[in-house]
Amino acid sequence: MDVHILTIFPGMFVSPLQASILQRAQTHQHLRVTVHDLRDFASGRHRVTDDSPYGGGAGMVMKPEPIVAGIQALQERFGPAYVMLMSPQGRVLDQEFAKTLLGHSCVVLICGRYSGIDARVMPYIDAELSIGDYVLTGGELPAMVVLDVVGRMIPGVVGDRQSVEEDSFFNGLLQGPQYTRPETFDGARVPGILLSGDHAAIAEWRHQQALQTTLQRRPDLLARVPLTPQDRAILREIGREETNPHES
Ligand code: SAM
Repeated sequence: MDVHILTIFPGMFVSPLQASILQRAQTHQHLRVTVHDLRDFASGRHRVTDDSPYGGGAGMVMKPEPIVAGIQALQERFGPAYVMLMSPQGRVLDQEFAKTLLGHSCVVLICGRYSGIDARVMPYIDAELSIGDYVLTGGELPAMVVLDVVGRMIPGVVGDRQSVEEDSFFNGLLQGPQYTRPETFDGARVPGILLSGDHAAIAEWRHQQALQTTLQRRPDLLARVPLTPQDRAILREIGREETNPHES
């Protein structure tokens, strides 16, 4: 997958792209990330990318010409791409949407700055994408979030595929509790089932724990997951235990 990033701060991407999963994804050519300086598409000696807002008001607005010139130049050079604008006004990124991005061989991520971008850029954008209901200073951190979420789902990037598929959200549920050594810490013991060596029983226990964690912390997610009759029975049982904690 090719990802092109348009930003006025290309230097912000240097360190994140050189560490951990994102570095590995690029080394093995699963992900080819190219960061482009938006100023290269701006005209004039000062390569200006922003101007004051029509109608007055606080803050500067990103000019439309450099962004549209950048999108067009990238598509001419690298072929058709799915173009996304990082924006707090877009649809909120989740695992399901991130999975759909894997279907695109080329993606352009545009990082806004200042007070936002001129609305006349919108016809050149396929999707506006937010990483949550809060406002950041620029689209660079959201673009890095998109790279990480998508990168770790590309087969071959994370060595142990199972660990990605057991992560929260991958199949709609939150992951249950996890443990490592020591066996006893601060008086708390690791649940015995995890020491049993019985892989089928451990998988079943983990699934039950995932259901329980999701019910307790994000019950809204359960409405969107395909649940088996057995899952529903487990959830009813957990619900009963929580309403009557002393009943045996
Ligand atoms: N004035 C804009 C508004 O109220 O919608 C916010 C502009 S924000 C300070 C500057 C840039 O940061 C945005 O154009 C966008 O690219 C990026 N940004 C800020 N918060 C974001 C979020 N939650 N998700 C994605 N991008 C965000």
